[in-house]
Amino acid sequence: MTLRTPSLLIMARRGRLAQFLSIALLVLNACATACGAQQATVAVSLFDAYQPTATLFVEGPCELIVPFHRGVPTGLYKVSVEKNGIAVTPVRASSPQLIAGASKVVFTGAGHALLSLRHPAVMVKRHYHGAVELTVRSDRKLKINNSLPIRDYVRSVVASETLPNWPLEALKAQAVLTQTRLFRYLPGDELGDTTQQEVYLGSGNDRADIAAAVASVSGQILAYDHRPIQPFYHSTCAGSTSDGSAIFGKNAEHMVYLASVSCSYCKQSPFCKTTSSRIRQQPFNSIFGSGTTSVATTDSSGRPLEIILGDGRHMRAYDFWIKLGKNFGWDKAPGNRFTIGTDSHGDVLLKSTGAGHGVGLCQWGAAGQARLGRSYREILQYYFPGTQIE
Ligand SMILES: [Zn+2]
Repeated sequence: MTLRTPSLLIMARRGRLAQFLSIALLVLNACATACGAQQATVAVSLFDAYQPTATLFVEGPCELIVPFHRGVPTGLYKVSVEKNGIAVTPVRASSPQLIAGASKVVFTGAGHALLSLRHPAVMVKRHYHGAVELTVRSDRKLKINNSLPIRDYVRSVVASETLPNWPLEALKAQAVLTQTRLFRYLPGDELGDTTQQEVYLGSGNDRADIAAAVASVSGQILAYDHRPIQPFYHSTCAGSTSDGSAIFGKNAEHMVYLASVSCSYCKQSPFCKTTSSRIRQQPFNSIFGSGTTSVATTDSSGRPLEIILGDGRHMRAYDFWIKLGKNFGWDKAPGNRFTIGTDSHGDVLLKSTGAGHGVGLCQWGAAGQARLGRSYREILQYYFPGTQIE
């Protein structure tokens, strides 16, 4: 979202200046040294999908900004939480320690290069624009935050959320949704890097088509009644999306633009086929209780709305699906349209179609519609009826 004067004027005219300013405070986070004081930035907490760590690896050459400014030569450096604060030590033991006892350490890439980081639980390096700030959490693990220009963040999210062969109009639709989500954040809200918000795997995957897509929709958001929408999306609906309030309940009660629409455009998705999986009885029962679990009600798209657990308790099906994914892996029922059965051993059999919760934009469907020549505006207005680009 490029914060330009015309946008400010338009929003002031619509009485949304206060909202704009609150967002501006969030995004104009200090990043003066690394990114240039004129550029709006966003702050993202990194590696949220993994256990908190007290150790992180940084690859030189790069630049150290805090606690003092200096170039860091080529090599691998271990950042660790020690008794007296953060230490930065070259992995090659013969080299001297770079920092000891710091309360905050900030790195950036050297020149215009990206900064390379490796979390001990992730085998591959990730590369980041902007600055990465490391501080110590109350549990003595590292808090890892990346401040970067909004444009670079949107590009990275679009790259993380789409496939390389997807058409430009689908990339633009994804960029508008990411900008809309950013617009809704308030000061103090923290952005993470997982599907809880949007997948952000750094910027090693920069692509020319994504840069062009993001530039062409800069500053645009999707609005309903002149207010930014809650931009839900999912991978594959496999036939039709679901009404937001049916799936999420009260949280989505007034979001009339999260309406169910039919979608025959996502047939190229590998998740259109039925996924079958099995979970052993004992671990399943340890989470959901013993007895037979069954689907009580479904919506018109076939997604369960209510589950009856073995002990007779009722549970919102979306909550059940989330708990299932967190405990047994998201591959067990990738889509929120699922059935539950049991085999002769009493093990639980799951069958699902689609991938994701099924509300809002279907990403594979957006790519399919773009291939048919539809514009990002038409695609967004198809999955979010009654909305406009603003
Ligand atoms: Zn679809």
